[in-house]
Order: sequence, then C-alpha cells, then structure tokens
Amino acid sequence: MQIDYVKARQVFDSRGNPTIEAEVKTGKIIERAIVASGASTGSNEAIELRDKEKAFNGKGVLKAVENVNLKINEKLKGMTVTEQENIDKTMIELDGTENKANLGANAVVAVSMAVTRAAAKTKEISLYEYLGELADIKKYCLPVPQMNVLNGGKHAGLENDIQERMIYPVGAKSFSEAMQMSVEIYHALKKLMKKKFGSLAGLIGDEGGFVPKITDEEQKLELILNAIEETGYTKEVKIVIDCASSEFFKEGNYFIGEKKFNAGELTDFYSDLISKFNIVSIEDGMAEQDWQGWNILTEKLGKKIQIVGDDLLVTNIKFIEKAIKENSCNALLLKVNQIGSVSESIASAKLSFENNWNVIVSHRSGETEDGFIADLVVGLGTGQSKFGAPARSDRNTKYNQLLRIEEELSEKNKAVFGK
Ligand code: PEP
Ligand code: MG
Repeated sequence: MQIDYVKARQVFDSRGNPTIEAEVKTGKIIERAIVASGASTGSNEAIELRDKEKAFNGKGVLKAVENVNLKINEKLKGMTVTEQENIDKTMIELDGTENKANLGANAVVAVSMAVTRAAAKTKEISLYEYLGELADIKKYCLPVPQMNVLNGGKHAGLENDIQERMIYPVGAKSFSEAMQMSVEIYHALKKLMKKKFGSLAGLIGDEGGFVPKITDEEQKLELILNAIEETGYTKEVKIVIDCASSEFFKEGNYFIGEKKFNAGELTDFYSDLISKFNIVSIEDGMAEQDWQGWNILTEKLGKKIQIVGDDLLVTNIKFIEKAIKENSCNALLLKVNQIGSVSESIASAKLSFENNWNVIVSHRSGETEDGFIADLVVGLGTGQSKFGAPARSDRNTKYNQLLRIEEELSEKNKAVFGK
C-alpha cells in the first residue's frame, strides 16, 4: 500500500500549547498522530520547531506544519506505508541535521507515528502487534504503571524541588488490578491532602498529581505512604521518584528545598530515602552533564534499585552506548519525541534490552489525547510505563487503551503483566 499524502495541522496539547497532528492517507485508510511536549527537557533532545513569532507567545508550530505539508509530503508520497525504517530514514536524510533542527522533530515524529498507525491498519492488526513486529519482539506485555501522584518542580511551578513521586503497584496480579490499586490510592491521597492543607490542595499539576505546599521531601513521601496504608496496599505498592535534577543543579551543586548537596552527599540523601520509603527506582538522580555524579550514584545504589536515565540519555543510542560503557545507569526512559521517530525509539529500546537494562515507556508533561505510547509499551514488552496520575484524559487515554489491550489479549489467553 502506497502513501497518497501526508499532511499536518496545528492543534493543542494539555497545557494549552500548540502542537502538531499529522495525517497519513493510504488507499481508503486515513490515520493520525499528535505529538506531546516536555517542560523539563534534556538539552540534547531532538529539536521541537516553534515559530518564535507573536502568535501563541512564540510557541506556534506552523513552520513545522508547512514542513510536513510541503517537503515531507513530497518525499513520502508513493512510498510503501509498511516500510517504517525506510520512511523514517528518508525524513532524517531530508532534514540533514543530527537533531532534526531543520524539519523539526515534532514534524518528523508526528508523521512517523501516523505512518505506523496507517501501516498497522493496512495489515489489519492492532497497533501494539505491529509495533512488536517492527521491533521483532513478540512478547506482548502489559506494564506495571509508575503513576505520578505528587507533582513538583517545573510541572508545578516550583524551584529546587524533586519533580515526581510515583506509586508503583508491583504486587498487582494484572494491569486492571494495578489500576484499581492506583486509583484507590490516588483518591485516598486526595482526601488526605484536603484534610491536611484545605480544599485547594485537591488541585493538580501538569501530570495529574497533587502539589503539597511543603518543602520537606520526607514529609511529601510520608503523605504517599499514609495514603497507601489507608488503602491496605502496603505490601503491593512501592515508590518511584523522578528527581529531574538538571533543574536544580547549579554550578556543580544540587539544591533541594533549603538543602545543598554535592553528588556524593546527594547519593547519601537518596540512599536514606530509599530505606525509609520503599523506593525502588530513581530517575535523573543526577544532572545530564554530571556524568561523574551518575557513576557515583550507580556505583553505590545500582545493585539495589533501578537507576533511570531520562535527560541523560534522551532516547538516543549515542548516549545510551556511553552510559552502558561507563556504567552510568541501568535503565532507559523512552520518550518517542525525544529522539523524533518510531524506528529510532525501537532501536534505543533494543540496545537497552541487549545490555540487560530495563526500559520504561514514558509520556511528556504536555500530553494529548493520542494513546500511541500505550500500544508501544505493550508491543515492546518493556513491562513498565510512566504515563502520569490516573486523572485527566490526557493521561487516562493511555490507561484506558491499556485496559482495552488487556481485554483483547485476555481473550486470546495472552495477557502477560509486568516482565
Ligand atoms: C520527565 O521528566 O520524565 C517528564 C515526563 O517531564 P517532561 O515531559 O517535562 O520532560
Ligand atoms: Mg524525567
């Protein structure tokens, strides 16, 4: 099946910012995809092309839309829609830069995802099955969700703050049971927040989690432990944090609340939190440029817990290779728009698997109604997702799609949960 056209339009994300929706037509099939957008972005991420003009405070994406409608459409028209790698390669070559700065990674990735959807349709299979085929991984699996219930840092307008505190229901027996546990904890936490801090404390940050107006990290984690206790899931549910520490790294030191740390002291601080709060995974514990700090962290805690690279790796095999060689972390946070195409995202996941790393498929803080990453996490069989709190439809689109997939796989007796 050949591509008749690709085109794009400007639509809006969960923060009210412009983003791109791409559309691909092949025969009678028309499929679309919308791109998410980060706030605490890594400096080595592929470039999100913004208009930088008066409209939308510079955040318009009409130049990227035009790149799809003219340049990309011209090249992809007539190509076979199932040639994902070739299509992605064609766009990468057309762009001609290391970081997709010419066409815009937002333009390229929107088309790349819409092409994947259209190809799955032509083959009359589910998107997750097709993604599994593309990756040559035929071990579908529903993820254990990391759910960000207490938002902080850039997602909540706070400085010198750990960004995300997540519940992680490893003891659930199925994805739907993991959802039930997480939703019940979310509501117990909401009740607790309102009781402690008043009715406004039920309001939420960018990823659907609450935002306590306290600076002490232990007090924040204590709130989550209390909510877990309240629901009776203490044995089943662990805690995961994303520090997004590049945001509080200044002139060689880290600043959290009133405290200042060097990399060694920060590792000790984390070590203390791990033992007190049942933490099993830490993402971006060190800043993206502090490779030495990462080595200290992984050396000391890497055997005990999952050490996840997000801003450090930006889903780019160049940085993943370096981190593997230097033992800087032991897991990849995979964000499709960070690298800018489906094929490159799959390559990053596969390189990680080959080196016995874990992979967590992740949303962005600025999300949309597009549920592509739900199919991706099942297709790649990574066993872990990070799609925010179980609230607001930009997050729940992903969870609801996972529930549909769980049902589909259950009917075939193939519903595996976790790794
Ligand atoms: C993250 O840092 O993992 C995250 C999801 O936030 P953002 O999309 O703002 O980078
Ligand atoms: Mg992160």
